[in-house]
Amino acid sequence: MKLSDPLAKLFRTTDVQKKALERLGLSTVQDLFYYFPNRYGDFSKLSYIQTIQKGDTPIIYAEVTKISMKKAYRTGVAMTEATLEDSNGDTIKAVWYSQPYIAKMLPVGTQAKFVGAVSERAGSPYLTNPEYYVEKDGIPVSKTGPLLAEESQELVLYPVYKETKGITSKWLYHKIKKLVADGYLDLFEETIPENILKKYKLPGLQHALIYIHSPKRTEDAEAARKRFAFEEVFLIQLVKQSQRQAYKESGSFVVDPDKKKLAKFEDSLGFTLTNGQKKAVASIFSDLGSETPMSRLLEGDVGSGKTIVAAYAAYATAITRPKDQTFGSLQVGYMAPTEILAKQIFNDFVELFGPFGITVGLITGKTCLKYPSKTSDGPTKISKAQLKKWVANGEVKILVGTHALISKGVLFENLGMVVIDEQHRFGKKQRAALRAKPTEKKAAIKKSKIIKKGLADNDEILPHLLSMTATPIPRTLALTIYGDLDLTVLDEMPPGRKKVITELVDPIQESREDAYEKIRERLAEGRQMYVICPRIFEADPLKTKSLLVKSAVAEAKRLKRDVFPDYRIGVLHSKMKKEEKEEVMQQFTDHKIDILVSTTVVEVGVNVPNATNIIIEGAERYGLSQLHQLRGRVIRSTYQPYCYLFADVKSEKTKERLDALTTAKNGFELAEYDLQFRGTGEMMGNKQSGVSDLAMEAIRNIKLVEAAREEAKNIVESNTLSDYSSLQSRFDNIQETMYLE
Ligand code: ADP
Ligand code: MG
Repeated sequence: MKLSDPLAKLFRTTDVQKKALERLGLSTVQDLFYYFPNRYGDFSKLSYIQTIQKGDTPIIYAEVTKISMKKAYRTGVAMTEATLEDSNGDTIKAVWYSQPYIAKMLPVGTQAKFVGAVSERAGSPYLTNPEYYVEKDGIPVSKTGPLLAEESQELVLYPVYKETKGITSKWLYHKIKKLVADGYLDLFEETIPENILKKYKLPGLQHALIYIHSPKRTEDAEAARKRFAFEEVFLIQLVKQSQRQAYKESGSFVVDPDKKKLAKFEDSLGFTLTNGQKKAVASIFSDLGSETPMSRLLEGDVGSGKTIVAAYAAYATAITRPKDQTFGSLQVGYMAPTEILAKQIFNDFVELFGPFGITVGLITGKTCLKYPSKTSDGPTKISKAQLKKWVANGEVKILVGTHALISKGVLFENLGMVVIDEQHRFGKKQRAALRAKPTEKKAAIKKSKIIKKGLADNDEILPHLLSMTATPIPRTLALTIYGDLDLTVLDEMPPGRKKVITELVDPIQESREDAYEKIRERLAEGRQMYVICPRIFEADPLKTKSLLVKSAVAEAKRLKRDVFPDYRIGVLHSKMKKEEKEEVMQQFTDHKIDILVSTTVVEVGVNVPNATNIIIEGAERYGLSQLHQLRGRVIRSTYQPYCYLFADVKSEKTKERLDALTTAKNGFELAEYDLQFRGTGEMMGNKQSGVSDLAMEAIRNIKLVEAAREEAKNIVESNTLSDYSSLQSRFDNIQETMYLE
């Protein structure tokens, strides 16, 4: 008997169920125990039949007044149908499929609690496969019973799991109960050190597993959820803190630039840095001046001036000589998420650094450029081989690129710093690969016998790392998923930036037309517009509800036909090939398209200054931070930007929430709103962040996150992880999966 026993061997499962288990990611006993309920139903909360609506999962207390079994004509499946009547005399039908014994269990006259999902047929609601609990001598006897053999105890809370076709919540509950009865629970070994459990009053693992699947009281369920959330955040922190430790143990190049040269560079910018930028530059320079590598995350809204901060640090690096060397200089790798962004940054850098005689290179899948060049005034196209040579011999000081930057064969002579723009779009693997470069470099240094003082003692030389993101996330989430990085937040915008005028529009025809009318004027003045739609293709017309959700493809057609016939309209969505997407983006950038109708794929950070209008269809469907980010697309110019949120504003709540977009100071404020009102799932796909729903819930709790972080730090710094064998093995597992992206 092992926790890794496959479920498929333990339970008889149909093919449909096998597939369903796979979909839920459940293959072993351990997986099933760690499949936690989303919520708990409460048997003490009864509903009256009168109030029941489709989609509810009510609990009713009722008497069986009719019951019969028949076979469904097409499928031959046994179908039991009953009529239930409550104390008000209202009735509802209940239907059980494939459970022919039900009629015997619930003879007419039986009084019981029923709980089940409400469906609708021909306009009247009915319960499908309701669970029932018959009272005997005043004591409710549940059909399933609690997980532990304490049958006399009334089961008040019951777990509700996320279901999928073929697997019901009930099925999951029964199987877990069976595994407990078989003794699997005893196989679980405590992962959290005893003293930590005590300190934070967390239940032990085996108790917590019972509490979470079969709580007697709400407090038990909460204690268990808190424990598992702590466990997850704690494990993530262990991994992050040990990565952090590993960085600290590595060496790096000390960047100690000439102050006079820096002042000249700052003068050349043509504006003064904001206070936020000054502070960011100061922390970065203090990191760069140290022999341990920088690992810093710079967070700031789109347009807050991150690129300039990075450029400043890049300049400082590129004018610094490698230690004990009287020639050459350190180099910088700058990685952007897309070809277009890489090109934009390269062009910016040519302008910024050209006057200082710093050679800048660009490498993407398609193009390699170098500036300055001997043959022309602007950048020249060169071959990849040529560029690689110039990077390897140190002539190219700053290399901007896409993923091509880390593709095999690009080797820097003295890579002092890497900048990763919009880092959340890069997997950790790529980051690791970028940072691994210096090891190869070091091998090369060793070979050529120019081993520097201070470097020779270290196992590994890492470049300083500056990571940047415009995704506003709350502090607790940042501490968790970027726990290995130091955090700097740019929370102010450069002066003179026009605030986006944001309007909530009820998408009824007249209001829509009013908004279109205003936009037409601006298009006529030569501006451009984004239209964001929640879906890609036309929804199934039979599903009336989804009809209301605009699709990008259909909306583009409609806008061309009915609204903006005189303008060029393009479509962009995630199902398009990468090249097609880039092509459309390029056309929009070049103003060969006036209106870009798109799903939310419009790249973060894309810079089309002339696009000053954005319409967001179905705005109520998005989190505030996401809306804020979408809106960030139009603040790139000196023209007044406008954002129209087409949203169902009939709901007071929606209106109140969306109003925050006009009052909040910055994206971080909005991210905190999201966290409090909607949960973190809204702001970042869980897949992307690698954090489960449960831990996301916990991230609302700053104390818990800080405690987990402190404890993990203690263990890593005191190097005592190996004292806790089952924690160590969970750590090893997690570390592996955290790199597998
Ligand atoms: P981000 O990368 O954070 O989205 P950028 O660095 O691209 O923002 O800056 C956006 C624009 O603001 C750029 O055109 C940049 O030149 C300008 N900018 C940056 N910092 C300042 C400042 N302190 N004062 C005025 N303009 C600035
Ligand atoms: Mg930027």
